[in-house]
Amino acid sequence: MKKNYLFTPGPTMAPHEVLLAEAAPMIHHRTSQFSAILEEVVEGLQKLFGAEEPVYIVMGSGTAAMEAAVANVCSPGDKVICAPAGKFSERWADICRAYGCEVVNIELEWGQSPTPEQVEAAIARNPDARAIYLTQSETSTGAYTDIEPIAELTRRSDALLAIDAITGIGVHPCKMDEWGVDLVTSGSQKGCMMPPGLGFIAVSPRSWETIEACSSPRYYLDLLAMRKGWAGGSQTPFTPAISLVQALRRALRMMMDEGLENIHARHARLAEAARAAVRALGLQLVADSPVNGVTAAYAPEGIDTKKLVPLMRDKYGVQIAGGQGHLKGKIFRIGHMGYVSEEDMLVAIAALEKGLKEMGYEFEIGAGLLAAHKALA
Ligand SMILES: *Cc1c(COP(=O)(O)O)cnc(C)c1O
Repeated sequence: MKKNYLFTPGPTMAPHEVLLAEAAPMIHHRTSQFSAILEEVVEGLQKLFGAEEPVYIVMGSGTAAMEAAVANVCSPGDKVICAPAGKFSERWADICRAYGCEVVNIELEWGQSPTPEQVEAAIARNPDARAIYLTQSETSTGAYTDIEPIAELTRRSDALLAIDAITGIGVHPCKMDEWGVDLVTSGSQKGCMMPPGLGFIAVSPRSWETIEACSSPRYYLDLLAMRKGWAGGSQTPFTPAISLVQALRRALRMMMDEGLENIHARHARLAEAARAAVRALGLQLVADSPVNGVTAAYAPEGIDTKKLVPLMRDKYGVQIAGGQGHLKGKIFRIGHMGYVSEEDMLVAIAALEKGLKEMGYEFEIGAGLLAAHKALA
């Protein structure tokens, strides 16, 4: 018998209550019945994002929400500031270039996080920048960026601050309005315990002037159409992913029952346990300042994670992730976001130990588990 666990940093495990809600009979979306569901969902998302304004649901993955944050803000030729230090912060720069922007990069190594001083210097050098695109939780390296002090700087400048909080939402606090962030994006299949398929984007009041003046072509991802649909009776401009929205209502109810503070505290504990285990196994984290939703660590010398990851999946039923880009084969990433308990965390660590042992790494079996138990005690 083999039981399957999904410890990847997206998609993540979805509770059966959520999956059952997705299987509910189809209803029509141009009805007061569906609008009521959408209203409840948007209210829940507003709490998660720390936003007074509605959060818009984009039918697509998280990247669709990221693209919306560029397509609606930047006109061709606009200057933007990015801080590539991993696969997803690089994606911001890629999307901006696809929309004809001039991209100015804050120079970083993978695993590092941009500091407020670096952002301040970049704004000073580029006072004409239209927007700054950052990543709260860089899933490819597990690096955390403290958004609050950066937003403090950008709210005093003309540049809008957009953040990818795709693995931040439901893991770390997000206080969009309080911090003064202009655009926040996320997706369903990470901290929200949902299948993939929905993107989320929240927009600050001061962004709309820029969005209205933006000359980039867009149709499906047009935020003005989304705003109009919402104002016209809690609707989406096109047919929404009705089943996923129904599932999201269930997921958000579960999250509100647990309480946001408890959710953030649980992720902090899971991350502490994972980091303690990794250190006890003599391994090093990739990130200088680690996030709480995923733990990325370098594999021992001579162990290829392109082999370790399938071994753990096929033999023990435990799916973790390897590295991306130039870190492929060199690192492993254990996702512990969303529907993950402390007991689940121990399962992941036990399987990691078994996999490493089988691949010839020498250490005392149980050393990681013991460290994790102590961290959780
Ligand atoms: C998963 C992820 C994305 C991409 O989301 P998709 O849903 O795969 O499009 C972007 N940014 C971060 C930080 C992510 O973890």
